[in-house]
Amino acid sequence: MIVVGAGNAGMSAAFAARERGASVLVLEKAAREWAGGNSAFTAGAMRLEHGGLADLLDLVEGDERHAVTDLPPYTEFAADLERVTLGRGDPDMARVLVGDSAAALRWLKGRGVRFRLMYERQAYERDGRWTFWGGLAVGVVDGGRGLVDQQAAAARRFGIEVRHESPVEGLVPGGVLVRLPNGGFQELRARSIVLAAGGFESNPALRAGYLGPNWDVAKVRGTPFNTGEVLLEALEIGAAPYGNWSGCHAIQWDAGAPPTGDLELTNRFSRQSYPVGIVVNSRGERFIDEGKDFRNYTYAEYGAEVLRQPNGVAFQIFDQRSVPLLRGIDYDAPGSTRVEAGSLRELGEALRIDAERLERTVSDFNAAIVGGPFDPAVKDGLRAEGLAVPKSNWALALDTPPYVAFPVTCGITFTFGGLRVDGDARVLDLSGRPIPWLFACGELVGGLFFHNYPGGSGLTAGTVYGRRAGYAATA
Ligand SMILES: Cc1cc2nc3c(=O)[nH]c(=O)nc-3n(C[C@H](O)[C@H](O)[C@H](O)COP(=O)(O)OP(=O)(O)OC[C@H]3O[C@@H](n4cnc5c(N)ncnc54)[C@H](O)[C@@H]3O)c2cc1C
Repeated sequence: MIVVGAGNAGMSAAFAARERGASVLVLEKAAREWAGGNSAFTAGAMRLEHGGLADLLDLVEGDERHAVTDLPPYTEFAADLERVTLGRGDPDMARVLVGDSAAALRWLKGRGVRFRLMYERQAYERDGRWTFWGGLAVGVVDGGRGLVDQQAAAARRFGIEVRHESPVEGLVPGGVLVRLPNGGFQELRARSIVLAAGGFESNPALRAGYLGPNWDVAKVRGTPFNTGEVLLEALEIGAAPYGNWSGCHAIQWDAGAPPTGDLELTNRFSRQSYPVGIVVNSRGERFIDEGKDFRNYTYAEYGAEVLRQPNGVAFQIFDQRSVPLLRGIDYDAPGSTRVEAGSLRELGEALRIDAERLERTVSDFNAAIVGGPFDPAVKDGLRAEGLAVPKSNWALALDTPPYVAFPVTCGITFTFGGLRVDGDARVLDLSGRPIPWLFACGELVGGLFFHNYPGGSGLTAGTVYGRRAGYAATA
């Protein structure tokens, strides 16, 4: 079997096929140091259904904090997926994702991937107890880099060959065309081919073409290698397009970040603590409900909202009450773009935005706050009402200088449009029939995510569909 792409989805397919006795060759476009695609850039967060802390103890590594942890059962994965995708996702695909989620993670553990509870990202501590929030608790030890390294070690153990610097640029029935350094092609054939080469988020022309104007100037959070050629090639040979081709996952990202992902800092340009602050544009106006829901259910759609603002930038604003709540691993990252001032007027001037309007925005906001008390671990109902743009939870007044601002822009994570597959990850043609030798998994598959996305679902989807692809391709 040939797998195209050595990210989490492709490696999951490779493990499953090897488990069934197939010989497996993984073709990866990038050099070894970039191996792992977007999967290497992740926090390693993986969403699964579970029955609470006791149910997870066989999956995650020991931690002395377990004894003082509140982690309720999570059985709302399907409902969360349906809610944030506005009911547009394929219900059969959602059933597969949710139904396989717990088994797939335990299976991945059996392939050498180590899991832990993500206290630093998904829990708040109060009076010595940790409370997990937002349906997401489990992550890979050492994040995305750990995941990719653990999978590479397992591939060596299982005798799976991963060939780097081997870009696939063509598909023929039962085979792939690999571009050679001399510009020519080598044809490699196999009984089945699994496509796992990611979406088209790193291709500015395809972004502008499918996502719309200005998407070419968005920053890319992850690998520069997911440029969509394998996806286009599959369409060319008759595979059916599926899902939300004008939609993507995009977040608020440090405005000073490089144009594509940074191997050292990876995920640390993320600016995810906006629910405890406010976000304004260069006119000094708020434009999103920062507290609409837990961050896990809003972050993936707010990148696009920032891109719609003048110059595609915005400014997250906090004061000395909210600064201690910022997720330090990201906001304190080396080179983080940060501006501090003793008054809102000075802050606005330093940011070169409408400072007078910023002052008015904050005083209107502070005056509109009702409810509470503040509790970041639940939807606390501490809200700002009666404004053109309300804030539904965690509406702490901004009144304790010095004030701190973090300029953000849109960072695209991955695209939602892709190929159509059935429950065995077989690629379907335009008549809805499986192409017998062709399978697909991961970002390159469409149909699961529309408009938005519940955090931690991408890796789980890659493993769920990768595992199914590997089994079906060797059946
Ligand atoms: C910064 C960041 C943080 C994230 N955090 C999380 C998280 O915590 N949890 C979560 O669930 N999701 C997260 N995601 C999303 C997650 O990365 C993806 O959903 C998931 O990794 C996709 O896996 P994949 O295997 O489909 O793609 P990838 O991991 O991107 O793998 C695709 C591979 O295909 C290769 N390739 C591309 N073109 C070719 C070609 N022509 N020939 C051969 N190989 C090719 C690429 O080089 C790459 O190695 C994050 C993404 C980013 C960018």
